[in-house]
Amino acid sequence: MRRPGAQRIVSEAFPAPAVLGTDLIGVPEGAEVRLELSFESVQEGIWVSGTVNGTAIGECGRCLDEVRQEIAAPVQGLFEYPDTRSAGEDEDSEDVFKFDGENLELEEVVRDAVVTSLPFTPLCRPDCPGLCDQCGARLADDPDHTHDVRDPRWAALQSFINEKES
Ligand SMILES: [Zn+2]
Ligand SMILES: [Zn+2]
Repeated sequence: MRRPGAQRIVSEAFPAPAVLGTDLIGVPEGAEVRLELSFESVQEGIWVSGTVNGTAIGECGRCLDEVRQEIAAPVQGLFEYPDTRSAGEDEDSEDVFKFDGENLELEEVVRDAVVTSLPFTPLCRPDCPGLCDQCGARLADDPDHTHDVRDPRWAALQSFINEKES
């Protein structure tokens, strides 16, 4: 693959080596991850581009229900040969990785792609009403339920209202 212009297409599925994602949602360790990648030899190294597919599992940020999300995240990165002197601005680019010239360590670039594609706050549905802040009931199951006395500090006011009404 050292010859510039050479290209190889790889399509492979493998178990995730570790959780790919954030604390809230991610592809669990051992779950299948599918990579469709093109490896293209360029002057400085190997240009990798393609897609990572998998199923992320997480927790709804409002009601704590399980959230499943299909991922189809674009992957791209330049793996530079160890002897490549990169131009200054490349150093800061997050899509540039060093490699030993033999083995591409894809975990980081795949992880970055997956994390970028995941929601910051996973939700079971966009309008999830969440949990009742008094009793923890799922408001999606019981949207109209209320509590008579909301807080001890309200109790005095509540009895005042009751007196007025009676
Ligand atoms: Zn929810
Ligand atoms: Zn409640």
